[in-house]
Formats: sequence, C-alpha cells, structure tokens
Amino acid sequence: MIVILKSNPNPDQLQGLRNWILSKGVQIHESTGESHTILGLVGDTSKIDTDLISALDIVENVKRVQEPYKNANRKFHPEDTVIKVGNTQIGGGSLTIMAGPCSVESEEQIIEVAKAVKASGATMLRGGAFKPRTSPYSFQGLGEEGLRLLLLAKKETGLPVVTELMDASQLPLFEDVDVIQIGARNMQNFNLLKIVGAQDKPVMIKRGAANTYEELLMSAEYVMAQGNEKVILCERGIRTFETYTRNTLDIAAVPSLRTLTHLPIIIDPSHATGKAALVSTLAMSAVAAGADGLLIEVHNDPTKALCDGPQSIKPDAFDVLAKKMKALHGFMQDLEG
Ligand code: PEP
Ligand code: MN
Repeated sequence: MIVILKSNPNPDQLQGLRNWILSKGVQIHESTGESHTILGLVGDTSKIDTDLISALDIVENVKRVQEPYKNANRKFHPEDTVIKVGNTQIGGGSLTIMAGPCSVESEEQIIEVAKAVKASGATMLRGGAFKPRTSPYSFQGLGEEGLRLLLLAKKETGLPVVTELMDASQLPLFEDVDVIQIGARNMQNFNLLKIVGAQDKPVMIKRGAANTYEELLMSAEYVMAQGNEKVILCERGIRTFETYTRNTLDIAAVPSLRTLTHLPIIIDPSHATGKAALVSTLAMSAVAAGADGLLIEVHNDPTKALCDGPQSIKPDAFDVLAKKMKALHGFMQDLEG
C-alpha cells in the first residue's frame, strides 16, 4: 500500500499517522520527492482500512500495490536510487563501467588489467576470487589469495572493486570490497540474500538464467527487507532456444525494470554472449537503451585465461569501447534533454 501525502503535511498529524501504521505491525518506507512525500507500507496491510487513511487531512491518495515486491517498487520510491561507491556513483544518470578479468589469476595479471581499464575510463574493477563453475574440475578461483590480489589492485589504482560472494562464510574476507556480487546461480539463494541484506555494502544481484523480472525484484526485496537498500540489478542474458550465443541478452530488461523499480540497472554483455566479438555491439545497445552501467570482462591474454577467455576482450579493444560508450552516453543524455 502507498499513502501519498499532500504537500507540507502537518508534522503532528503525520507523526500520528506513522505511529498508527506502526502499531498495526506494518513497516513504513518513506520517500520524499520534490513535491510529495510517499509512505510505502510493507507487511501485512490487509487489516489497514484505506478509507480511514484517505479521510485524513494530510493524505492526498491511498493505493494498494499489487506487486509482491514493495521496497524495490518504483511506486514506493519514484526517484532513481543512486548508490555511492568510493568517489563514484551508480545510478542517477552516470555511466558505471565495471571491467576486469573473469578471475583474478596472478598479481601481474590483475595489476596489469586494472591499470589498463582505469586508464581507459573504467569506474570499477571487477574480478572473481570465488568462482561458480559448472564443472567441479574447472578452475575455481584463487579464493582468499585472489581477494588479496584484487584488493592490492584496488590500492594500486584507487578503483573500487566488485567481486562475487558465494557463501556466507566468505563474508569476513570482504571487509574492503566495495560491491558484493551475487551471481546468477545464487540469485535465489535466499539465505545468502538475507545475509548480504543484514550488512551495509552495496549488493549487485545478477539475474538467473531462467528467472523473470519479478523473481529478480523479489531477490532484491530479500536484501532490502533486511535493511540494505543499496541494491544493483544486473541483466546477464537468459537461456533461450538460441545456442549460437552463450545466453540471450534481454535488452528489454532495461526499460522494463526502469518502469518497475528505482534500482540501478547494469548490463553484462560478456556472459550474455560468450563471444568477445559481440561484446562491443551489445554494450553500445545497452547504453542506448539507458542502462546505468556495464560489466565487461577484460583480459590481457584471453587465449590463456583460466575462465571465460572466449568472451573476454583485450585492453586495447576495451579502450576503444569505453570511449564509444561514453560518447554515446553523452549523446543519449543530450537527446533526453
Ligand atoms: C561472473 O560474473 O563472472 C559470473 C560467473 O557470472 P554469472 O553469475 O552471470 O554467470
Ligand atoms: Mn566470467
């Protein structure tokens, strides 16, 4: 349920309304926009009489929200969420560029790639230390050592880092990580979502290969219901009948999620295609569609990569792409006025 207040509501009446709602065991998510304040009611609102609230002087309108996700719903929070990370931000019109190798493989590799992507304009460094691999015989990531090397690259370049958390037991190692990634395979690992919801670092949730927008938003809701509102959504391709590409990039996710939620939306063209040659075109289409950012796998020597080499682009190709994306982003902003 959302309660839209008239402008400049009487503070005592507003506090009275808040207390009454809380006494019903329902939580309030308050959002103050330029002209109106919205109270988003989360919990079992079935016993709340909408007519009673509508009759109050300070209330303009009351609506029931049908969608099962509340905190993540744009109806609760009409303005885009902007998440500050280091000295950069995600959302709010900026173009976030997360780049780096699929896996941290060695000190030389991660430092070289980190310096290269920074010089090209990446705003965040991404690299995996704990890797969710389909085969138990594939390289599983360097684990704790990989995290240490990633943080070394953060220190060297000043880039904030994003890396995947696969299990709650790894969380104490993530103290200096800037954004926690929840991978596609863990999108509905509800215990893990609750755990990252109970801490305060931003969380990027990747859409599962066979999950709907609503399911993705319910995963965001799990994190937000624990009190962590810093959630970023990532579309990384879904499984379809097509086998030429690794997955099928659902570009409609950008305008669709933009309507449904206020959370920032990142597109990952690398996992979506599995093919380095397709990454640039799809990255550009994501910028044109209005994505808040990109996640791009970059490797200094893709043929020798221990993970996802075929979809990794080289630093020189990333340099060209980063310039093109920024130019297109500027152009799109001018078009939108
Ligand atoms: C990754 O980001 O490296 C990864 C494994 O992606 P996904 O969870 O989208 O498959
Ligand atoms: Mn990868």
